[in-house]
Amino acid sequence: MKIAVIGSCMVDLIAYTDTVPKAGETLVANEFAMGCGGKGANQAVAASKLGADVLMMGRVGDDAFADNTLANFEKYGVSTKHVNKVPGVSSGVAPIWVDADSQNRILIIPGANMHLLPADLHAAAEELKQCSMIILQLEIPLETVYAAIDFGNSNGIPVLLNPAPASTELDIDYACRCDYFVPNETELEILTGMPVGNDDEIAAAASTLLAKGLKNLIVTLGDKGALWMHGDQRQHVSAPTVSAVDTTGAGDGFIGCFAAELAADTDVATALGRAVSYASHSVTGKGTQTSYATVDEFAKWQS
Ligand code: ATP
Repeated sequence: MKIAVIGSCMVDLIAYTDTVPKAGETLVANEFAMGCGGKGANQAVAASKLGADVLMMGRVGDDAFADNTLANFEKYGVSTKHVNKVPGVSSGVAPIWVDADSQNRILIIPGANMHLLPADLHAAAEELKQCSMIILQLEIPLETVYAAIDFGNSNGIPVLLNPAPASTELDIDYACRCDYFVPNETELEILTGMPVGNDDEIAAAASTLLAKGLKNLIVTLGDKGALWMHGDQRQHVSAPTVSAVDTTGAGDGFIGCFAAELAADTDVATALGRAVSYASHSVTGKGTQTSYATVDEFAKWQS
């Protein structure tokens, strides 16, 4: 069954430098790298690498970054029929400076991502109705996220919402209409205004959020794995101990894998275990989409 990811496409423009420039200063840096990202795109690519049939719905600008993004989706077998170019607008880009201490300074320019509007769902309605799950994040307009939740609800399609980046503007009633709500610890803290410094605090904040009426709350916990809460059930899945090289995009890998497993009819508990393991594997490699394993690579790593 098909998974629809309705979300963001970004291009990371990474400069590696010993020193970052001050205002008015020009410096020569060491290296440059460009990488495709955006939470939506990352989740779509992870699911596709695991063999899921993925339809991406998003917007890119009318610049060279757009062609790069489209080519990248095609490389990974993600359908781009509903990734359209918006005239006169830049693609979503993230200029990133990484200094000698590996500290990041990141600017996000959402660009075309903010032009994915509720009305655009109509153009893709027939294909969206063929999907077994809709995956959403918060790097596109909130009104589009809400319209997609309504669409999923009225067509009987399960919806997973990853509330990232966290926004206190998110209407919790919409979150409660999703089948799966998947924040990380920071997002849990921002959404509840409660501390998440230790296991007890995380459990208390998660219980408070669940009590608002969420169906399934899954909190990803970095090297501590993930916590699944639904009704009065609680299940914690530990992450395997790995030597982490780059944790960027681990949460997106988790969601891509979880969705791919559910689309393949795996039960939630098993899907959760595989998603934790898949995301943990991803932190052992550099980059974001490049660190996601294919089915074969993941199977080999697990054996
Ligand atoms: P990011 O913002 O970097 O994409 P995130 O904060 O959304 O990630 P996390 O909760 O940090 O997501 O991690 C998601 C999953 O990745 C975890 O559930 C775990 O399986 C795996 N993971 C992350 N960091 C580590 C680590 N240091 N060791 C093992 N597994 C990890």
